[in-house]
Amino acid sequence: MIPIRSRVVAVLLGVAMSPSDPLHAATLGVVAAENMYADVVAQLAGPDVAVVSVLNNPAQDPHLFEVNAATVMRVAGAGLVVYNGAEYDPWMTKLLSATPGIDRRVIVAADLARKSAGDNPHFWYDPTFMPVMANAIAAALIDRDPDARAAYEARLKVFDEATAPLTAKVAAMRAKYSGVPVTATEPVFDYMARAIGLQMRNPAFQLAVMNDTEPSARDVAAFEDDLKNHKVRALLFNIQAASPLSRRMQQIAEEAKVPVVEISETEPPGMHYQDWIAAELDALDVALSGSRP
Ligand SMILES: [Zn+2]
Repeated sequence: MIPIRSRVVAVLLGVAMSPSDPLHAATLGVVAAENMYADVVAQLAGPDVAVVSVLNNPAQDPHLFEVNAATVMRVAGAGLVVYNGAEYDPWMTKLLSATPGIDRRVIVAADLARKSAGDNPHFWYDPTFMPVMANAIAAALIDRDPDARAAYEARLKVFDEATAPLTAKVAAMRAKYSGVPVTATEPVFDYMARAIGLQMRNPAFQLAVMNDTEPSARDVAAFEDDLKNHKVRALLFNIQAASPLSRRMQQIAEEAKVPVVEISETEPPGMHYQDWIAAELDALDVALSGSRP
């Protein structure tokens, strides 16, 4: 097992590494399709585990991602693969079935969320979901490396403690904003909006942006009407899955003085999951507290 793991890390890092290298002997290569899951793995796995994410470019729309040779290599060499599922990253399902017979664990977020194709795939924006994901990741890490169980369990406790303020923030916002109407350019924030109790408008428009198709003229007109006539208290603008049409809505919102809250699809570089979500919740809180129906 140990030489295989070292070779995996060597492939992942693109460096020559001796299988007997004591520093890396116990490492386990992990590939996460999305960088927020990679971040959770890294928080739980600690410094000895190499974690690579595939979708980590803040300028890239993950819905339009296409696999390259480096991704194929990484997935083929990983001992643990984490991905979203529900047709969010269908390329990963294909890569895994193209490299059968490898001794690896696979964690699919959609399975844990009990969702499938056709459901909103942005599970990481459900504040109750990431702790479930963290539990499954910790269990997989312990399974691969039982000697380090205590360390993984300790890190899981730290993760849960660091995530608890998000739950408190969502509850506080729910008390203030339950029933408040908002709209969004793309459904990335939908699970979080529901957790806060917001009334989300224009779902058909959002789905069209997500699927890179054209919303109907009626849906576009209804969206514009919501902004121009202040039927919503904020526009959640997905900066990463933007289209010319969603940018036009951003502009209309700004002209109508409807607050625009920027939401990113994947984790911004240099942030952890907890800080990222907290920053977006804070921005939404400021926007809603300052806006009037
Ligand atoms: Zn999306």
